[in-house]
Amino acid sequence: MNDQISAEFAARLDQLRQQYASRLESDLCQLERDAQLMASSDTDAGQLHTLHQQLHKLAGSSGTFGFEQLGILARALENTAKQRIDQADFSPWQELPARVAELHQALSPQADLTPAADRQVPAHLYQKTSEQISESGRPARIMLLADDLTISDELLDALGNFGYELTKTKADTGASSFIDESNPDLIVVDLPAEDDRNAHEAFLEQCEQCRESAAPMVFLTDSMDFDVRLKVAQLRGAGHFIKPVDIPRLVDRIESVLQWRNANPHRILVVDDDEMLAEHYATVLRQVGMNVATLAEPNQLLDRVQQFRPELIVMDIHMPGSSGIDLARMIRLQVEWLTMPIIYLSGERDSEIQMEAINSGGDDFLVKPVSEAHLVAAVTSRVTRARQLSELMSRDSLTGLLKHSVIKEQLAIEVKRALRTQTPLCFVMLDIDHFKKVNDTYGHGKGDQVIKTLAHMLHQRLRRSDSIGRYGGEEFAVVLTDCTPEHALLILNDIREAFSAILFASGDTHFSVTLSAGVASLVDHPDCALLLEAADGALYRAKTNGRNRVELA
Ligand code: GH3
Ligand code: MG
Ligand code: MG
Repeated sequence: MNDQISAEFAARLDQLRQQYASRLESDLCQLERDAQLMASSDTDAGQLHTLHQQLHKLAGSSGTFGFEQLGILARALENTAKQRIDQADFSPWQELPARVAELHQALSPQADLTPAADRQVPAHLYQKTSEQISESGRPARIMLLADDLTISDELLDALGNFGYELTKTKADTGASSFIDESNPDLIVVDLPAEDDRNAHEAFLEQCEQCRESAAPMVFLTDSMDFDVRLKVAQLRGAGHFIKPVDIPRLVDRIESVLQWRNANPHRILVVDDDEMLAEHYATVLRQVGMNVATLAEPNQLLDRVQQFRPELIVMDIHMPGSSGIDLARMIRLQVEWLTMPIIYLSGERDSEIQMEAINSGGDDFLVKPVSEAHLVAAVTSRVTRARQLSELMSRDSLTGLLKHSVIKEQLAIEVKRALRTQTPLCFVMLDIDHFKKVNDTYGHGKGDQVIKTLAHMLHQRLRRSDSIGRYGGEEFAVVLTDCTPEHALLILNDIREAFSAILFASGDTHFSVTLSAGVASLVDHPDCALLLEAADGALYRAKTNGRNRVELA
């Protein structure tokens, strides 16, 4: 999180707090006038209920905005009002004006607004900066840090095949500032041999400095001696490979290190009828990189959920016209939303109601006021687990690509969208050539590595809006959105060539593998079944025409 962005969020939270303070000021003036009336004549059940609701809301929101003392006093007064309701005590409430005045005093300009320590969100919960979020569609940036740049071109060429954006820098005094400027996602460090002791030490010192850049480092070394391994561990290496480096294995490591960085921000929906409070929670969650929408009108909930597809809902309980508990039940009636976590955030302290809330499909219950750190921690842990589960269900474990059934569903969604928006779309089937021979010659493990390598390449080279699936063993399916058949052929031929250029190592021998692909365009094959059949036919043609080629249906 860079300082400027965190200052912007702090300013936004402060601005919300000031707005809340001025709303409180007018609410409390009104409350003082009501209190005078209730002190001088008999009250009734309706008046007491309204007062109770106002105090309940006040108690929940004021602590959240940093007026802790006011929150405590409001909570105590809320309890007294509840007692009066329960006892049907409608006599004039003489002490009320004094107690409301106490509330008002707690809002004095001297009231302490500085955030307490537990309001601060711990650094490790920040997912990524909004800058990173806005550019998360770009290819991963890899920097090579080396002593001798002339011998690194081969390595860069090989990595370039995967679609990474590459830069290189010599490990001298300017390296760390160059790294800060170019802000790579990962650094590959080509560690020189220890022949020249001084040069080696100087290089390691540069690595120490570069570690500050926070980009993970993967090391390439000449030996795997204990001392070398220890050094790499001390430098917090995220990977360690011996030279000459096995590129597919290096890429596999790069992809797994980059995985969490490339992930889309979590989508969170905050439902609260108090818009200012909803905005406060949203700002706190956005601060750590989440994508947050708010909703103040419960009757629009289902539409909003369909459209925004949140991965977690933060739900208030007491809202005019509906309760959060009923809303959660309503969501759970839809099978597709059965696993989405719902966290209640409410001023409700009655443990029976809390229990009912959890039993009706909620996952957690946070009592207002809740600190920023607590809110972020609760949401992060639930939503991370929920995403892991949903990925386990929809993604293939070897490649991380969409499973057969999911890529077909995705094709149906994208075809519908393309027909509606009148944009071109292509569907592609790819199959590795003579793959059985790879398995038979080099073993099943090597075969797995070839499959993974193609998956990484597709993932890096295609756009984020494209969907990629593992259709079968060594067969892949790709949905290219907003893509003409001419363009699809260009992309696929590029991928075909880049894939055939990769050298796989097995012992001392090296081998390469090719692929064939069939492309079908929505313009010529205007529904899902036709697209599938046409792409399959084109793939078959690519095979019979000699393999290592792309055919258009
Ligand atoms: P063609 O060029 O006609 O596609 O020939 P091929 O040998 O690639 O095709 P074939 O369908 O005859 O063989 C595919 C092989 O892929 C058979 C199967 O054992 C192997 N396979 C399927 N899934 C996996 C896997 O997950 N890992 C490995 N290593 N092999 C797999
Ligand atoms: Mg094959
Ligand atoms: Mg096959």
